[in-house]
Amino acid sequence: MYYSAKIYSAKLLNNIESIESLKLISHMDNFSDFSSNIELMTFRDMRDFQKYYSEAADKRLSIEKHLADKYRKNISWLFQGYCHCCERITDFLIDWRYSDGVVPNYRERLICSHCRLNNRQRFMYVYLKNMVRDRKGASRLFCYEQVTHFYRKLIAQLRNIDVKGSEYLGNDKTPGAIINNIRHEDALSMSFENELFDIIISNDIYEHVPDITKSLSEAYRCLKEGGFLIFSVPLFINEKTTHQRATINNEGKLIHLLPDQYHGNPISQKGSLVFYDFGWDILDSCKDAGFNDSYMIAYYSMCYGYIGNGIQFIFRADK
Ligand SMILES: [Zn+2]
Repeated sequence: MYYSAKIYSAKLLNNIESIESLKLISHMDNFSDFSSNIELMTFRDMRDFQKYYSEAADKRLSIEKHLADKYRKNISWLFQGYCHCCERITDFLIDWRYSDGVVPNYRERLICSHCRLNNRQRFMYVYLKNMVRDRKGASRLFCYEQVTHFYRKLIAQLRNIDVKGSEYLGNDKTPGAIINNIRHEDALSMSFENELFDIIISNDIYEHVPDITKSLSEAYRCLKEGGFLIFSVPLFINEKTTHQRATINNEGKLIHLLPDQYHGNPISQKGSLVFYDFGWDILDSCKDAGFNDSYMIAYYSMCYGYIGNGIQFIFRADK
């Protein structure tokens, strides 16, 4: 594995061959370390994160921008690296989908040509795989998705694990109902009994729920003692406080508090409405829901295709 990574850090240098001329990297040796290893850190506090980020981000952002500039005229291109999910050398697809036009949306792209998972999904899968491997006995897992490559990979590849998945099929459906082989669940009111799961996974779901406090409480209720929730959401890294973009009032009417915004949804053409722009108080919300501990797991690796915004991250909450 280490040598594969080394070979690919060499190949990656081809992607950014003019990096030295840009004087982005002062020592090539440092760059080798940087590109062939993964940085993995945990943060519970915005200030600690900012201190780390202010030191690490400039160089990374310059490299990400340089890659974008090199391929600016391409509709899409391939970025060579090592997929930890597939445990093989692969090409990651990058294009301009969901981007701001300046740099690609690396978080949502960098799709492995073998497993079809994007950047954040690949990390989530690998993190989970490591967690499950270290647990004794079979784990029961729930994830808020069922029609995705991610879910299919969980079912097909992870042994010693009992996976349940669901989609949100609309407010006229009953939680737990199976419609065309898809299970409907509402994050605010799930059909599962208390303390059923060891692990719950949420990939960019919580920004789309109308009540984050209720959703986290439901996840907490459905987890066993010692179980944990791992989730990804877009985070405004310099915001302490979450801003609510929309809400549902007592009469069940949707109220927009900020201009409406939608993210891609595999079962809806229109996409999913964004209810929250999360700040660091998402970690407090986890504790308010009952979790003992909650923290950010931040990571970055050029070799494994975990780049974008100078840092990538998921969150974890332990019951
Ligand atoms: Zn892969």
